[in-house]
Amino acid sequence: MSENILVAVAWPYANAEIHAGNLVGSHLPADIIARYHRLKGNNVLMVSGSDSHGTPITVRADAEGISPVEVYKRFHEGFLELFQQVGITFDLFTSTHTTNHFKVSQTMFTTLLESGFLYKEKQLQWYSSAQERFLPDRYVEGTCYICGFDGARSDQCDHCGNLLEASKLLNPRSKIDGSTPELRETEHFFLDLSKLEKQVEAFLNERQDYWRPNVVRQSLGQIQTDGLHGRPITRDLKWGIPVPLEDWDEKCLYVWFEAVVGYLSASIEWSKLEGKDAAWRDWWKNQKARTLYFIGKDNIPFHAIIWPAELIGASEKFDEYYGESKKENFVLPYDVPANEFLNLEGKKISGSRNWAVWGKDFLSRYDPDPFRYYLTAIMPETRDSDWDWEEFYHRNNDELVATWGNLANRVLSFAFKHWEGIVPDPGELTEVDTELLKTVEECFNSVSVELEKVHLRAAMAEVMRLASEVNKYLDQTAPWKAIKEDRQEAARAIFVAMKAIDSLKILFSPFLPFTSQKLHEYLGNEGQLFGSQHLETIQDELGAHTVLRYDAQQACGEWKPSELQPGRKFVKPAPLFKKLDKSIIDVERDRLGK
Ligand SMILES: [Zn+2]
Repeated sequence: MSENILVAVAWPYANAEIHAGNLVGSHLPADIIARYHRLKGNNVLMVSGSDSHGTPITVRADAEGISPVEVYKRFHEGFLELFQQVGITFDLFTSTHTTNHFKVSQTMFTTLLESGFLYKEKQLQWYSSAQERFLPDRYVEGTCYICGFDGARSDQCDHCGNLLEASKLLNPRSKIDGSTPELRETEHFFLDLSKLEKQVEAFLNERQDYWRPNVVRQSLGQIQTDGLHGRPITRDLKWGIPVPLEDWDEKCLYVWFEAVVGYLSASIEWSKLEGKDAAWRDWWKNQKARTLYFIGKDNIPFHAIIWPAELIGASEKFDEYYGESKKENFVLPYDVPANEFLNLEGKKISGSRNWAVWGKDFLSRYDPDPFRYYLTAIMPETRDSDWDWEEFYHRNNDELVATWGNLANRVLSFAFKHWEGIVPDPGELTEVDTELLKTVEECFNSVSVELEKVHLRAAMAEVMRLASEVNKYLDQTAPWKAIKEDRQEAARAIFVAMKAIDSLKILFSPFLPFTSQKLHEYLGNEGQLFGSQHLETIQDELGAHTVLRYDAQQACGEWKPSELQPGRKFVKPAPLFKKLDKSIIDVERDRLGK
């Protein structure tokens, strides 16, 4: 029976380009899992969008002297381009600046307010008397009162990862003019997390056995040591979603309150675009659905505590305020497989200092599959990891080219030459042959087990191990020699190897979709393993926004061993991967930091 799988991917701030650290943190692992479930025949909905509001956008707009709309659109367009190039197959990648998202977020606010989970309170906020305005979040920097890092933002410290109370920040200075702001009183709405603490704790307890240890530690740990306290969910800022109450038009919903609502609103937007208005409920209101949230570790509190708290608090009442005929509880997150951070050549990635591997820049020189391969091989699943150009070079040449690419190319070229593009008849298989094919079949299970647990490194290593097994089999059976003495013996080994390669193509396809498709065609198959991506421009009351969509109609890939038969036609192959020259290591290292 097919399952409903929601793949919810962190919303990138539309104020900077996407680098390897962002891709490996959320987009790539999400795409691998989405592709795997699609091959399994599950109903996948993968959504995200550009986080277009809040001070990350306005600070950049101020610095460049342009409007926040211009900032978010510029980076949003870049994201759409990159995701197509690297094959991140969102069913919908939209933005938070849409009429639909405004409505869903405001309904979430109203539902929580009417259900008694919001309260108003006056708080002290940094204020610039020169600018005559409040300075929320990123408008103020200073020293972290927890770890002492100088360069913390007033809402969060990038060094220790803690969320901060703005008024406690030490040595505050305005990001606009460097002046020292003063504390002034302002009124805000707070999410009453203390009222929801018991339920959030129970939710976490039910999942702690299979969640990643760092996610459990950060979320459950916070409840057990400090308890949950009210958190402000509105801001003194005009760029964002207006608080849906009279006399609150100078304030908007805090970007962190509304951005997580984006998973829900994007699902609703997708349903409308599909012409099936209630389809989103299959993932959000059907308790059998599994929802997975792909994020970096800096976002754990928002996805493991705050978002579940919003969903628990709003519950079936959301349907009432949204005008739905059915009233059902929300599905709570099944898993939040947060990744740790990726460093670069031993140092922390820094976009502003150009210490980064930029997605689009990388793809101007290299193919997408080696990018996906290396990022998966070093995915920071349990601890921080490091992008090292020398390691990239070696993994490309020694693993992708030597172990996998050459295997496929060598066998298919040989078969094409000696059997004129017809899959040879193996005759009766020997024990060695059936052993190998059995190992291949078992691999579908062992790789599944790892993918279900979102252990992507282990899953891909398992597939590469199988490729090595096929190489060993060929060393043993040596069809290149046998062809001279016993053509039937060579035919048997080549048939078995082709069948194994046809299976490896599927096993590798969530990780290496582009070359797997090529191989699919070399093997004489028609059709696409996966669906196709396209852009669409949508008009609403806020203007036009462009979205990335996925069309699964043409997809024919299935998660099962090859059924290759003798006599089938195939075509002349070409190498799947390019061997890199060693000089790229120094060339790429020289680019960094300039
Ligand atoms: Zn800190």
